[in-house]
Amino acid sequence: MPVFPQNYTSTVSHWQATNRGPGSLWDHGRTDVLPSDADIVIVGAGATGVSLAYHLTRPGMEKRRVVLLDAKDVASCASGRNGGHIGPASWEVMGHLTKPLSHGGGGVSEEDALDVLFFEQETLDLCELIVMRERLDVDFWRGYRLVVSTTPEGVEESKRTLDAYHRAIKRSAKHGDKRLDASALFDAGEAERVSRVKGALGMKWTPSGSWHPHRGITALLKKALENKDMSFYSWAPVASLKEYRGGWTVDCGDRGVIRTKQVVLATNGYTRHLFPDDFAANTGIAAHLTPYRGHAGLVVPPTTYAGDKSLKGQYGIENGPYLIQTPYAGIVLGPFNATVVNTFGSPRDLYGIDDDSVVVPKFREWLANYCRDNYVDWGPESEGEGLARAWSGIMCHSVDMRPLVGEVPGKTGMFISAGYNGHGMATIVNITRCLAQHLVTGVRDHRLPRCFDISQERLDRAAAECLPLLPPEPKL
Ligand SMILES: Cc1cc2nc3c(=O)[nH]c(=O)nc-3n(C[C@H](O)[C@H](O)[C@H](O)COP(=O)(O)OP(=O)(O)OC[C@H]3O[C@@H](n4cnc5c(N)ncnc54)[C@H](O)[C@@H]3O)c2cc1C
Repeated sequence: MPVFPQNYTSTVSHWQATNRGPGSLWDHGRTDVLPSDADIVIVGAGATGVSLAYHLTRPGMEKRRVVLLDAKDVASCASGRNGGHIGPASWEVMGHLTKPLSHGGGGVSEEDALDVLFFEQETLDLCELIVMRERLDVDFWRGYRLVVSTTPEGVEESKRTLDAYHRAIKRSAKHGDKRLDASALFDAGEAERVSRVKGALGMKWTPSGSWHPHRGITALLKKALENKDMSFYSWAPVASLKEYRGGWTVDCGDRGVIRTKQVVLATNGYTRHLFPDDFAANTGIAAHLTPYRGHAGLVVPPTTYAGDKSLKGQYGIENGPYLIQTPYAGIVLGPFNATVVNTFGSPRDLYGIDDDSVVVPKFREWLANYCRDNYVDWGPESEGEGLARAWSGIMCHSVDMRPLVGEVPGKTGMFISAGYNGHGMATIVNITRCLAQHLVTGVRDHRLPRCFDISQERLDRAAAECLPLLPPEPKL
């Protein structure tokens, strides 16, 4: 069942609201006639679709006619309504990625987990390189993220995974010569003083970055559009995809039909709708990729947290938010999934929801109160300070905690990159660099972590071993 056009109006994020000037790309190609054929059609103009188009149009790439389509505008879904972090994983991957699937983990080996860790670190370098090379004016910032533990269990988990990381690095044939530029502090008093988070028990610093995601993705799209073989059509929802003489037809309803050799689904939380129901169910793709809704907000701090006293960079706080200090506007924050479940008690507040038109009042209240209640000496908020805006957005949960990337099993010429578990900014630009190479050369790019590859075997294993996301409905 197609989900587009939507029968509701989405909330507007801080990023979308602050990129409305003449340099933005709202409604780009909205009324243009679609071409009748292409070499590659990319469905979805979020970070995945746009960065893929960017990589495919770089000098030196073989000439291809690339068509990018979106059901709405560029960065209208998760990519334009996220927390702004380009926050690579650090040693915590040795916990959640190596945990068995049957315990809610990724079920991969420690070498695979290290592949992911260093791939994500490289993603930050790649983002920085692109921003510098292209001279993008997108509020890019690079520094360290403070990951703050607020429970004894959180401190223990951080120590345990740090040890596991050191052991894995020592044993690793592939990554043994690499070092993660990160450090930890496990002294409660110092952690509270340095982080300014009440009740902090420990913390780590890990390399991280941020940008204005809506301006960032728009800027990449403009670079891609400088190539005459590339075109972008907004408000062109794809209703269905059909195999056609060794390629695909992409049906955009009233907008027209495009024939293409290759098609890429860059549709994240909305991907399952593009497969016939029986195919999605039989392959396990429908069960593997679940949409879920997150909330975020913009808080204008009192002057106790401005200027010299503003937060330096970004945070991830256990049982709290991911949070960044923007250069001018204030603080963007949103609750982690674990925070939502621990605070509000139900995964039903998150999973299986693909409607971003709503800000649920209890999450608005949480966003309004968090900084005031949890930062040391925050102080009173005057009229105009505090929560200035709140929004929601749809992400995509992959049940085995890893994105699905590559050619869809049984569908020659159809590719996918989706399922980032709310962490796409730390992987996408690097994944799509690999995917662009794959599309052009026909050979998988060896830089992509193996554990991201989509295969029927991986889907089957997840279907057999992963826990259901939602508890059974209570019997009445
Ligand atoms: C509240 C929130 C906070 C987040 N915070 C962070 C963060 O701080 N750091 C981080 O790394 N990640 C974060 N994320 C996750 C991150 O934003 C996503 O992982 C990333 O944006 C996914 O990019 P995407 O392009 O794959 O998906 P999307 O941005 O969702 O793009 C998919 C696109 O496909 C289009 N589409 C879907 N179906 C069709 C169709 N049938 N026809 C045409 N077009 C279609 C949609 O319109 C959409 O534009 C957050 C997400 C949310 C919602």
